[in-house]
Amino acid sequence: MTKYLLLLLLPLMTIGQEDFDQVLFEQYDRYKENSIETRRFKHKDIQPLIEGLGEENGFSVTSLGVSIQGRSISMISVGTGEADVLLWSQMHGDESTATMAMFDIFNYLKENRGILEGLKVHFIPMLNPDGAELFQRRNAIGIDINRDALRLQSPESRILKAARDSLEADYGFNLHDQSRYYNAEKTAKPATLSFLAPAFNDEKDMSEKRGDAMKLIAMMNEVVQKHAEGQVGRYSDAFEPRAFGDNMQKWGTRTILIESGGHPDDREKQFIRKLNYLSILTAIKGISDQSFKAKSTKAYWGIPRNDRKLFDLKIENLAFPYLGATYTVDLGIIYDEIENNNHSDFYLVGKIVDIGDLSTHYGYETLSAAGFTFKTGETHPTILSNFEEFKELDIPQLLRDGYTSVSISDLPPEIKFVTAPINVIDISKIQIPRNNEMPRSPINFGKNPTFLLLKNEQVAYAVVNGFVYRIDGPVNGVKNGLVE
Ligand SMILES: [Zn+2]
Repeated sequence: MTKYLLLLLLPLMTIGQEDFDQVLFEQYDRYKENSIETRRFKHKDIQPLIEGLGEENGFSVTSLGVSIQGRSISMISVGTGEADVLLWSQMHGDESTATMAMFDIFNYLKENRGILEGLKVHFIPMLNPDGAELFQRRNAIGIDINRDALRLQSPESRILKAARDSLEADYGFNLHDQSRYYNAEKTAKPATLSFLAPAFNDEKDMSEKRGDAMKLIAMMNEVVQKHAEGQVGRYSDAFEPRAFGDNMQKWGTRTILIESGGHPDDREKQFIRKLNYLSILTAIKGISDQSFKAKSTKAYWGIPRNDRKLFDLKIENLAFPYLGATYTVDLGIIYDEIENNNHSDFYLVGKIVDIGDLSTHYGYETLSAAGFTFKTGETHPTILSNFEEFKELDIPQLLRDGYTSVSISDLPPEIKFVTAPINVIDISKIQIPRNNEMPRSPINFGKNPTFLLLKNEQVAYAVVNGFVYRIDGPVNGVKNGLVE
């Protein structure tokens, strides 16, 4: 009899958290908003989507006002319940991951209203459209909106404050991006998502509401761990009296900060966007059925702290010669994004940001240089007369022969980089070294790393613009060479 009862109950029992988040993850592509695929989209790109939501049954779009430069800021509301949940994204203009996820969430909610029982959920996507236009953190007059929660000088800040106050929001989601170089403390794993239940005073006191925010984070963490194991960090809870998250908590809204960091091979953050989608919908359902209450604040404190010990590339035990001596060092290399004029695309410039003993640090990619011989790459003596000739080059052979750059005499000025594993020197820009100058170290802090690693006198690896190319073996994707 007992057995029989259990069998009857089983199907009911499994419609729980487990299945819900698994289905969310598996069916994501059905709801993904395909008109946005990279991070540098603008206000004009999301307006048609917002207008479309205004036509959608059950959704309402409220105009909250305009940014300093006059761009509209809208709030999209869905649901009919008593409890108000407010989510806002991109108060920092170059932090767009959660904005992308919001549009995926809208597509999901068009078909799945069930998780909103008892709730009214309000979304403010792209709170700082002027910043987004330039893909910069601050707004049009250079104010960091997240330090303007008290003084409220920016219209964007006043809009957010007014939205919270008019709703007396019960729950708030403060959605940001953080550096891709954050890791989960003491591990090589990036902090792909970091969470925080902000403090509401210097003493970092606890309250029931802050505890609720922690429990919601514990719930989201469990779900994210299934797809990005070890890749969640706990953001510092140092109280910042001018920030929105901290003040929202103080004003009585159970506030959660989500920071989207980095993930291997996901510079455009499309997988991280999916994790946002997954965790936010998980939290919304958890609020709706109050299942988050069963989670513990202890689980929140168990999430490893954020640290910043990651590089894009770490090269270990590189021995390089300089002025008759040899130095063994580790290199920490990152790739800076250099934007085009309209802030819609970029290329990468490798840069040595640390050098020495980096045994406490990690890389998205790691190369051990132990046992290899360092060699400075040469510039091929032939000066190419135009870019067409460049396209004809046998670049793997050039690298094998010890060349890491070629020079061109008539390079069109619009060419800032090349999608090939070699650097290009524009000979019109060459600077003649001054007399009696000490020869420069081939490796140095702040410099672009370009060199060769030899084994048995053969070139085994080329490092060009900070990207590693294995000479005999699969090239793991061509990044870009520099025009110098
Ligand atoms: Zn931010």
